Amino acid sequence: MSETHTETVKEHAPASADSHPHGAAHGPASPGTDAGPGAGGLSLPERIYVVEVVRGLAITLGHLFRNLLFPGRFRTIQWPELPRPLPQRFRAKHRLNKWEDGHTKCTACMCCATACPAGCITIVAGEFSKPLVKVDAGVTKIIEKYPTLYDIDLLKCVYCGFCVEACPCDAIKMDTGKFPRAGYSREDFLWQNRFKDGLPTLERNAAEA
Ligand code: SF4
Ligand code: SF4
Repeated sequence: MSETHTETVKEHAPASADSHPHGAAHGPASPGTDAGPGAGGLSLPERIYVVEVVRGLAITLGHLFRNLLFPGRFRTIQWPELPRPLPQRFRAKHRLNKWEDGHTKCTACMCCATACPAGCITIVAGEFSKPLVKVDAGVTKIIEKYPTLYDIDLLKCVYCGFCVEACPCDAIKMDTGKFPRAGYSREDFLWQNRFKDGLPTLERNAAEA
């Protein structure tokens, strides 16, 4: 009975380094012993660090000199001094379109504010003292309303472009190529427009690039 027990224990004992199929132990080397290359997973040059430090420096300096010799390889963009070219259809900060005589094309119909999923457009409608008559693509339009106030809170805006799609008058665009960047207060991100009899009296630009 006792012999059988002893044999079972031997069968489950860990294999020695000699009996490892690859001839090297995988466990950490015992302190004070030099098990040679492969001990602890590190070769001798790796364990004394100097060679690895020099190799790392060589890679870093290689990149430095390649970047200096071939500046086109630079991944860094010198923004905001050198703005990145934007795609043609980039939805940037809004602008309100005007007629040739300076009157705003916006008729304060509220379609954009209704379509806006962020609820960030505020419009206050006003009435022209005398209706504006315009011919657009051969169609005569009699315009009675304009926005006395047209604001967009660019902190809430998600730049979806729904306002542009919803506008029946081609009055709002997102083709300025600008977008808000840093600001110190919430007001810095409020794009404010005021009009009197359809003519702009104030446009306060939000912090923009
Ligand atoms: S881009 Fe979208 S979120 Fe921004 S104002 Fe227009 S509809 Fe609203
Ligand atoms: S911008 Fe266009 S959709 Fe918005 S209120 Fe003016 S006319 Fe209407």
